Amino acid sequence: MDKVDLTVIGAGVIGLAAAAELAGEGREIVVVERHDGFGREASSRNSEVIHAGIYYPTGSLKARFCVEGRELLYRLSAEEGIPTRKIGKIIIALDERDLPALEDLKRRGEENGVGGLRLLSRAEVEKMEPNVRAAGGLFSSETGIIDSHRLMEHFEKRASASATFAYNCELTGLQRAPKGYLVVIRDADGEEYCFLSRVVINAAGVGAQEVAELAGIDTAAAGYTVYPCKGEYFRVRGGEGERTERLVYPPPTGISLGLHTVIDLQGGVKIGPNAFYVEGMDHTVDEGHLDEFFQGTRGYLPALNRESLTPDMAGIRAKLYRKGEPERDFVIRREDDRGFPGLVTLAGIESPGLTASPAIGRYVRSLVEDLL
Ligand SMILES: Cc1cc2nc3c(=O)[nH]c(=O)nc-3n(C[C@H](O)[C@H](O)[C@H](O)COP(=O)(O)OP(=O)(O)OC[C@H]3O[C@@H](n4cnc5c(N)ncnc54)[C@H](O)[C@@H]3O)c2cc1C
Repeated sequence: MDKVDLTVIGAGVIGLAAAAELAGEGREIVVVERHDGFGREASSRNSEVIHAGIYYPTGSLKARFCVEGRELLYRLSAEEGIPTRKIGKIIIALDERDLPALEDLKRRGEENGVGGLRLLSRAEVEKMEPNVRAAGGLFSSETGIIDSHRLMEHFEKRASASATFAYNCELTGLQRAPKGYLVVIRDADGEEYCFLSRVVINAAGVGAQEVAELAGIDTAAAGYTVYPCKGEYFRVRGGEGERTERLVYPPPTGISLGLHTVIDLQGGVKIGPNAFYVEGMDHTVDEGHLDEFFQGTRGYLPALNRESLTPDMAGIRAKLYRKGEPERDFVIRREDDRGFPGLVTLAGIESPGLTASPAIGRYVRSLVEDLL
């Protein structure tokens, strides 16, 4: 039977970043991905924002890896020519009652090591973004946007020094063996293959719970129940008065950062994402949600026309908590203490996972390097 050193389940930005970090040194790596290429799920269906690291509880993995990942992304961009633009972001106060929340966010951001944060008056917001109406704002100069496809392409290329990419292959079995795991995968024709892998990285996004269950982890007890949470976007096909130059966010809600303007590298503008829990992986955008987008945005972008909004795309977040429950941190851990040596689980890698990806890749390497 074939033997490899390492298997990564999932070719999203997280699995690719981990494979890229672990490539080399004569290692044999397999990346298993059920779709026909990398990044077909959350990693290509997001706002492509390089977050500064403002929102996350100080000391959390989200805060740590967002700040580290952002710096690494800007460095990678300069060295490898991955398109990014540090366009900046303004979190606005919709009215005076939101102003204390902005002060809290500034304080928390600074505790997380985020530089370039500045509170803005109403007049300063309107000077920077003449189309926006707000009672004040928090400006983040370090926030930017990135071409996520090019980032994943870069990780895939680096990983390919050691990795075979098993695209169109779904993981169907993961069983402990004397020196690792027996990995079973099924290709698009229904053919099954198995091989032995010393180390396995579960970077399956929304599928992480299922992969952990295949290994035999009691996912309810471990807190690995994944609650898929959809986020839709509508494109703005309007005039100059209906756009912003920077990313403009309302204050965050419990389960999302709110309906914000999303600027892409070509200068196009979208509004999104909303947030609602779903079952399954349907990525269509419900046109019936147009009013939610229109009403949710025109409060701060008053010239926006309903007719300018058209359905664009949607992504699905891999959340570990439901509405009303406390937010959970990223889970990134070796499962040795549960009786699964050499198995690493990455669960709940929601936003800022794209930003954090290079830092998470490095961390995963540090977790398993002693086994390889
Ligand atoms: C709407 C939305 C907006 C976001 N905005 C931002 C943002 O602006 N900035 C930011 O930093 N982050 C953002 N994020 C978060 C970011 O996109 C994710 O954290 C990141 O993409 C997670 O990457 P991943 O590799 O863990 O997951 P995924 O990209 O979902 O990859 C997991 C892969 O595993 C594969 N897989 C699953 N099960 C199996 C199996 N059994 N066999 C084989 N393959 C399997 C899937 O097909 C998939 O390709 C956003 C997310 C969403 C949904």
